[in-house]
Amino acid sequence: MESLQQAREWLEAASAVVALTGAGVSAESGIPTFRGSGGLWRQYRPEDLATPEAFARDPKVLWEWYDWRRGLIAKAAPNAGHYSLAGLEKRKSSFVLVTQNVDGLHDRAGSRNVLKLHGDIWHLRCTTCGVEHRDERTPLPELPPRCDCGGMLRPGVVWFGEALPMNVWNDAERAARSADVCLVVGTSSVVYPAAGLTPLAKRAGARVIEVNLEETAFSAQADCSLRGKAGEILPELIR
Ligand code: NAD
Ligand code: ZN
Repeated sequence: MESLQQAREWLEAASAVVALTGAGVSAESGIPTFRGSGGLWRQYRPEDLATPEAFARDPKVLWEWYDWRRGLIAKAAPNAGHYSLAGLEKRKSSFVLVTQNVDGLHDRAGSRNVLKLHGDIWHLRCTTCGVEHRDERTPLPELPPRCDCGGMLRPGVVWFGEALPMNVWNDAERAARSADVCLVVGTSSVVYPAAGLTPLAKRAGARVIEVNLEETAFSAQADCSLRGKAGEILPELIR
């Protein structure tokens, strides 16, 4: 296993970088991850809530959870990990940030080239007419919220069992295939297809640098696996 210094050198020498982030990068901003401590909401497990079935069963309960999460995110601020990634983007000729997060904290930290694989919690989409719009109000005045056409709105996110937006996915695959370095931060690497981007980048020749509090499903294959908090390791790695 290579050291932090080696990882720094790979990153400095790279002209094309792809970064893949998960819920862990926002944990230090106070946004709970799905797996691990602090993941529960009332008595529900997030993996059971973030599904089309849960929405069909009880849209109001689902919306109460999303409204609660929107409130948390609105009060949160990007952390040093988000800012380091935004800084790295400025220094690279090619940089793509692929995130599984729906919180928008990368945008708020100044990242520009962001691909949101799982959508955006601030977007609402009509289940009747399909129109999507941005709404940053928190709390929302009515749950579930309604579209102008009268249809019920749903969060503009990708739930477990749903397909990813095709154009976003294609762009993410392209970025993974052409990267010299693939930085994987705060993701357990178990949610597919997102988790498939890292082995794709590796097969295409990228060095993979992982930053995570814990060992993950991908750690053994990473060229360098750095253990610790994203908000502490990333500023060390990206100086
Ligand atoms: P995940 O599968 O990406 O797991 C979180 C990972 O982060 C774990 O491996 C954990 O060890 C690591 N981690 C925790 N704190 C960390 C820190 N401070 N620094 C570095 N690593 C840290 O995420 P999940 O929580 O299982 O969520 C699955 C899906 O749910 C996501 O892909 C996303 O779509 C959605 N989600 C989004 C948000 C968000 O937008 N902030 C939050 C929770 C879940
Ligand atoms: Zn509508």
